[in-house]
Amino acid sequence: MNIKVKELSKIYGSGENRIVALDRVNMEIGANDFISIMGPSGSGKSTLLHLLSGLDKPTSGSLTYDGKEIYSYHDKELSAFRRQRIGFVFQQFNLLPVLTARENIIMPLLLDKKKPDEAYLAQLTQLLGISGRLTHLPHELSGGQQQRVAIARALIAQPDIIFADEPTGNLDSKSGGEVMEMLQNIWKKLGKTLVIITHDNRVAQMAKRQFTIVDGILS
Ligand code: ADP
Ligand code: MG
Repeated sequence: MNIKVKELSKIYGSGENRIVALDRVNMEIGANDFISIMGPSGSGKSTLLHLLSGLDKPTSGSLTYDGKEIYSYHDKELSAFRRQRIGFVFQQFNLLPVLTARENIIMPLLLDKKKPDEAYLAQLTQLLGISGRLTHLPHELSGGQQQRVAIARALIAQPDIIFADEPTGNLDSKSGGEVMEMLQNIWKKLGKTLVIITHDNRVAQMAKRQFTIVDGILS
């Protein structure tokens, strides 16, 4: 899968409140790519991630996945596209507290009325070191384990690409390191594309290609 970003800009507000959150960003993301994007708070990282994943629309510019302009999709097509092709990992784990780890992981499939591929689920949970934790509720898991459940949930529909917004931001350095190691395993073994936004230089260095963003300008 090939993603092309051309002159992508996002402007919020107008007049004195006008904020250029993203300023004519160009980039290309290839199959099995691993990209990190670093930048200070307020530099436009989350805005870029939301645009790249079709969660939000730009003020101007284009974004194609395998040549198809995704901002031209209707809302329904776009949300189906996101559910099937894209996985998200956030700083907050966003697990449902009353569901077990396993139920949280397979949740996205239920929305599409699909059954989990048990062999794939077993492979995922093994790669993420949570095979023995599947019957537990989120509050019975450590932060690192909760984030690994969230990563399994992001991968269960077999997306091509994972977008992670500060995935280690709520974790101590040891669990953050483990989560990153496992994300790298996933990247190597499953051939996914990984785009990670981070404040952490150690995390950024693990990527194949590193970008920084300052005042909405990517370099
Ligand atoms: P980061 O994730 O790097 O901290 P963001 O992408 O969240 O930065 O924000 C970039 C800039 O855009 C900031 O100045 C922020 O205040 C502004 N911004 C983000 N979202 C909105 C919004 N919905 N409305 C107005 N301004 C926004
Ligand atoms: Mg952010």
